[in-house]
Amino acid sequence: ESKYMRVLIIGAGILGASVAYHLARKGVEVEIIDEEHQGKATLAGAGIVAPWATAVEGQPEWYGLYAAGARYYADLISGLEGPGETNLGYGKVGALVVAEEKGVLDEAEARLLRRIKDAPEAGDVRRISPAEARELFPPLREGMEAIYIPGGARVDARLLSAAMVRAAVAMGATARNDHVTLRLQDGKAVCVGSDGRSIRADEIVVTAGAWAAQILNPLGLTHPVGPQKGQIVHLRLPGVATGKWPCLLPVGSHYMLAFDDSRVVIGATREDNSGFDYRVTAAGEHEVRGAGLALAPGLASATHIETRIGFRPAGSDIKPILGRVPGIGGLTVGNGLGASGLTIGPFAGKCLAELVADGAAPTALDGFGPKGRG
Ligand code: FAD
Repeated sequence: ESKYMRVLIIGAGILGASVAYHLARKGVEVEIIDEEHQGKATLAGAGIVAPWATAVEGQPEWYGLYAAGARYYADLISGLEGPGETNLGYGKVGALVVAEEKGVLDEAEARLLRRIKDAPEAGDVRRISPAEARELFPPLREGMEAIYIPGGARVDARLLSAAMVRAAVAMGATARNDHVTLRLQDGKAVCVGSDGRSIRADEIVVTAGAWAAQILNPLGLTHPVGPQKGQIVHLRLPGVATGKWPCLLPVGSHYMLAFDDSRVVIGATREDNSGFDYRVTAAGEHEVRGAGLALAPGLASATHIETRIGFRPAGSDIKPILGRVPGIGGLTVGNGLGASGLTIGPFAGKCLAELVADGAAPTALDGFGPKGRG
């Protein structure tokens, strides 16, 4: 039955792209519409997939989804490789947790060992010496003991989201750019294009990132997600093979990761009061670059390529919002992925596709549903 439904997806970041891809795989007719706002989070996201080291505690539902997101990556990547999508910037390069103080690293290790008990994909987590750490990540400061997580990974989210849209289109989906709005008609959500015409759909999925409230609130909803600005610095070390370098995760400070093209990325600011200000600021860039050079002085002579800006869809709560909107027909929301959306997004998108196509929410989405009107 699901085969003959038509689903409209608003926003093709990592989450919308995943919903589209997984719906198309189920034979559902899909239309993807994306405005490509400046600061689309998926185009700026760093790409670290290593949830087990997070310092956030006391959020078991969120953490469960975060960990499930990382676990799903292996299936996701092999599913895309089948039809020939192999250029995703994905690598299981490992991750290094480092800290200034031994006591802090000990705490991080205890937390990690507790978490990876049911995450074999994290691999054989172990303490390594400062010399071993510098072998893995040569620009690193001397004297930094580290915890090595072999199962840590990184991905180029630009490539991954484009690949999922392309794979969906190859299975019959359509994708185009437009700015759309929503309105209510007889208790059901209707999507209207910039030409003023309504777009036919049995179900609308809003995966509109930090902009989602702009189209949901006019329906009488109070959607609690807004932009958290991130500035992230890209460097190049000419001639240096950086493709196998692990992600660097200092406890409580700015992280770092590397890609194949001699590229090293330092992230990122977390600005809750900058709105949709799409500008690289003196202080923002200074903060990130300064933290990066303090941790990895070997980057001092790197070329500065660019500083990207992204607006994380940040909720009033760390928990994402994933599910059907109560009281409004044909409306599903996927939003609020915050700072961990590249890890959670592919899995959350698969779950939303199951909800929409099969009519019942998978248990992984229990407790994440949006609130209704008033
Ligand atoms: P987006 O990628 O923002 O996509 C939403 C899309 O919807 C946009 O293209 C927008 O134009 C479109 N849209 C909105 N309104 C409309 C409309 N009315 N009509 C048409 N289209 C519309 N996560 C990790 O897991 N690991 C990381 O290392 C990591 N690093 C990050 C670093 C930075 C600097 C930032 C900013 C984020 C990082 N994240 C990371 C988080 C991750 O990038 C985000 O959570 C994720 O990309 C959000 O995806 P999304 O699909 O919800 O939104």
